[in-house]
Amino acid sequence: MNAAAIRELVRPEVPALAPYNAGLSSQAVRSRYGVEQIARLASNENPFGASPAVAQALAGLALRVGTYPDANCTALRAAIAERTGASAEQVVIGNGSESILQMLCQAFLSPGDRVLTQRPAFGLHEIYPRMMGAQVELLALTPALEFDLGAWCEALARGPKIAMLANPSNPVGCMFERQGFARLLEATPAGTLLVIDEAYYEYAQRARGFPDALAALRAQQRPWIVLRTFSKAWGLAGLRVGYGIASDASLVQWLDRVRTPFNVNEAAQAAALAAWGDEAFMAQTVAQTVTQREWLVQQLRALALPGLRIAPSAANFLFIDLARPNGPVNEALLARGIIVKPWKEAGFESFIRVSIGTAEDNARFLGALGEILGGH
Ligand SMILES: *Cc1c(COP(=O)(O)O)cnc(C)c1O
Repeated sequence: MNAAAIRELVRPEVPALAPYNAGLSSQAVRSRYGVEQIARLASNENPFGASPAVAQALAGLALRVGTYPDANCTALRAAIAERTGASAEQVVIGNGSESILQMLCQAFLSPGDRVLTQRPAFGLHEIYPRMMGAQVELLALTPALEFDLGAWCEALARGPKIAMLANPSNPVGCMFERQGFARLLEATPAGTLLVIDEAYYEYAQRARGFPDALAALRAQQRPWIVLRTFSKAWGLAGLRVGYGIASDASLVQWLDRVRTPFNVNEAAQAAALAAWGDEAFMAQTVAQTVTQREWLVQQLRALALPGLRIAPSAANFLFIDLARPNGPVNEALLARGIIVKPWKEAGFESFIRVSIGTAEDNARFLGALGEILGGH
């Protein structure tokens, strides 16, 4: 009834924002397609879940829900600072690292400011800057589905206010290696804020040549922040905890001005602290996932499907060019209870992103794809 009046009130940036594509829930697929067994391979979650220490930490929580959580995440920031060699004042905790991306944009971007990122990118690297009215420049991949180092250096030299770089990339999985990363830093003017999103850090650490970004950045006099998350390798996507390590405590203080005060709830803080205390569990799940990823790549290649291309991946997913529209393939996978992420951006409608699951789920995906695309 009053939609037209509301449309008049909304900020001009908002109608232009693409809706975030969060994909289908397991329950929705079960009821829509009448399948029992679901393979969730769409959101890059850890199929092995979180450390058993998390369940223990959450068990006593019902008694504590009546009080506000620690607005400063004191214990968690101290624990992260200790292991990463930062000071606690350089650490910011978010309701997921996506909320730190949002805080960065709210604190630093005004209409017309320039932001640099990759295409295809993690959606929020583009959506949050646009929400603030910033201009977003999107750099293309090379034909081999890798970062284009030359293009990045050139664009960085033009001095965007913020550069958002996911290393390794989501959805592609490619990464800047140590030397390439060093060249990026050389090319970047001292006035650009470098946002290095390492959501897949724990996986990428096992890839040869993955840079120690924190060490490289610490050697520089410039503003930067490295973002990591408990949602992927640490198995806590449902509780929403991410963190950032900033070049300087003042950066965290500016984010504090725009941060909702109690942004990380009691359960999230307790769970993240417990997970962080059991690094061995996380490391063992990451090792399994990396082994499974390499297995899946080999098996997909062995199917010898015409035109099929797999982007190199240092993360817990594969970006696969099916060489045909992804819509019908996605439908056929859903009908078999397999949820992947069909890419919808122009130029990438033949790609799916598939998260590495359990051995059983990966085998189901492989078998189904072979059936659908007619491999042997
Ligand atoms: C998953 C992901 C995030 C978001 O993680 P949350 O901590 O769950 O908000 C951020 N960046 C990239 C590149 C991701 O893939």
